[in-house]
Amino acid sequence: MKILLLGKNGQVGWELQRSLSPLGELVALDRAGDAAHGLCGDLQDLDGLRATVLALRPDVIVNAAAHTAVDKAQSEPERARRLNAEAPAVLAEAAQAVGAALVHYSTDYVFDGSGSTPWTEDAPTGPLNVYGQTKLEGEQAIAAACPRHLILRTSWVYAARGGNFARTMLRLAAERERLTVIDDQFGAPTGAELIADVTAHAIRQLLQRPQDAGTYHLAAGGETTWNGYARFVIETARALKPELKLAVNEVAPVPTSAFPTPAQRPHNSRLDTQRLRQTFGLRLPPWQQGVARMLTEIL
Ligand code: NDP
Repeated sequence: MKILLLGKNGQVGWELQRSLSPLGELVALDRAGDAAHGLCGDLQDLDGLRATVLALRPDVIVNAAAHTAVDKAQSEPERARRLNAEAPAVLAEAAQAVGAALVHYSTDYVFDGSGSTPWTEDAPTGPLNVYGQTKLEGEQAIAAACPRHLILRTSWVYAARGGNFARTMLRLAAERERLTVIDDQFGAPTGAELIADVTAHAIRQLLQRPQDAGTYHLAAGGETTWNGYARFVIETARALKPELKLAVNEVAPVPTSAFPTPAQRPHNSRLDTQRLRQTFGLRLPPWQQGVARMLTEIL
C-alpha cells in the first residue's frame, strides 16, 4: 500500500509520520515537497498537487495540512479558502481519479457553538469565522468528489512538539501570581498522537470496509474549559516536578469577552464521538490522560 501524507510537519502530520509508517510505503511531504522526485506538497499549488497525485497513484491520501491560524484567516480569507477548501477539492478529485481513499481533518468550528449538547456529525453547521467557513467548504467539496473519504472533525489539538497552550500556561505561571483564563468555552483537549493513532486504525478498516467512509468526530473523552485545562496543567506540572518554581496562586475564570480576538470562537466545542467509537470499535481516553503524558514529555 502507498500512502501520500501532506503537511508532515504540523502537529498532527508529525505524529502521522509515526503512526502511518507501519501501514505501507509512506510518501510524506511538507509544503516544500520533494523537488528531486517532482512532488509538490504546497496546498497553494493546485496544479502541482493534482499532478503529484496522478503521478504517485497512492492508495490513500492523508491531508494534515491546512490554514490553521484562526485569527489571521479573518484578514486573508482568499488564502484560507485556497488551503482549506480549494486544495482539498483538488485532492478529492485526484483521489477519485486514481481510486485512492482520502483522509482529511476538520474542526468543531464548523458549528456555531450554541447550547451545551455535544455536536453529532449530522447537526446543522453554522461557522462563526472564516476558518470554520473554509473548513466546512473543504468538507463539502470532498464529500461531493470522493465518496471513499474519512473526514475527521477534531478540537483543541495539542502536541508535545512546538508551542502549545500548556507551555504558554507554564511560562505565565512562572512569571505571575494570578492568571486569567477563559471559562466559558467548553471542549476536550485532544492530542495529535491520539488523532494519528486513530487515523491509522480507521484507514485499515476503511480499506476493508468501504461502507465505513464518512464524517466522524474524533476528540478525547470528557470535557473542560480553557480555565480547567490551565488548572490541570499547573497542578499536574507541580505534582510531576515539585522543584518547578511556579509563582501562580490563582487561575481566575474570565469570559471570552475578556480577550477580544479578530475571529469569534464557539462556546460549545463539545463533540459527540459515539459514531467513531462504535464504527471503528475504539475507545477515546479521557483528555487528562494525554495532557499528563505530554507534560511528562515536555517538563
Ligand atoms: P498545524 O498548524 O500544526 O499544521 C498545519 C500544517 O499545514 C503545518 O505543517 C503547515 O506548514 C502546513 N501548511 C500551511 N500552509 C501550507 C501550504 N501552503 N502547503 C502545505 N502545507 C501547508 O495544524 P494541526 O496539525 O493542529 O491541524 C491538523 C488538522 O486538524 C487541520 O486540518 C486543522 O484544520 C485541524 N484541526 C486543528 C485544530 C487545532 O486546534 N490545531 C482543531 C480542529 C481541527 P508550516 O508549518 O510550514 O506553516
